[in-house]
Amino acid sequence: MTPERTALAERLSAIDLRIAEAARRNSRAPEEITRIVVTKFHPAALVRDLVALGVSDVGENRAQELIAKEQECRDLDTLNWHFIGQAQTNKARVIREASGIVHSVDRIRLVTALDRAADEGERLDVLIQINLTKDPDRGGVAPDDLDALSAAVAEAESLRLRGVMAVAPLGEEPAPAFAQLAKLSERVRTVVPDAAWISAGMTGDFEEAIAHGATHLRIGSAITGPRPIQG
Ligand SMILES: *Cc1c(COP(=O)(O)O)cnc(C)c1O
Repeated sequence: MTPERTALAERLSAIDLRIAEAARRNSRAPEEITRIVVTKFHPAALVRDLVALGVSDVGENRAQELIAKEQECRDLDTLNWHFIGQAQTNKARVIREASGIVHSVDRIRLVTALDRAADEGERLDVLIQINLTKDPDRGGVAPDDLDALSAAVAEAESLRLRGVMAVAPLGEEPAPAFAQLAKLSERVRTVVPDAAWISAGMTGDFEEAIAHGATHLRIGSAITGPRPIQG
């Protein structure tokens, strides 16, 4: 192994250990938690190294980058691409083609665009991203508009609503936000009872997210190392 790959393997297993410990502290089974490695700004070679270490789920937050890397990694058929960034409606088709799940559905126009981009009989897993801040420019639907959006996703035949996603507000304790997210997840389940996934928790707060029921963690820099400067 190259020194880089050894260091990557060590960071990955250190994080997985912390995930398992946080799960046990909260009487949860580590196997019910999916660890997504966020590979944004890193080259496809890093994705290959991660796959060699047994990683099956990776996340990207920009459509162009997702599409390029997914194409470069087409031969790795065990890989599940998660799209976690803000999506423009004119990218709906390419995002659909390149990812297995979209975490960032936050408005009805995007639901419509993703649904129209489907091929016959195809179904895409989606999460509704919720904005837990007071800043309307941050990604995500406002909690007040969640019920209408849940209903719209539930009605879209080519989409399968799996749950909710959020980013904790910057510079605040994440626990109250994750507690609020858990409540909002219950609300979504009154519309779609099996939409039980909660995508929450990043490098700085994944243990708190696990304590509040996160089923999908999106962890970048703690595993990949610092991100290269954005191009
Ligand atoms: C970049 C990113 C992450 C991972 O961030 P880290 O702090 O590096 O773990 C998680 N979620 C989203 C939406 C991101 O854009």
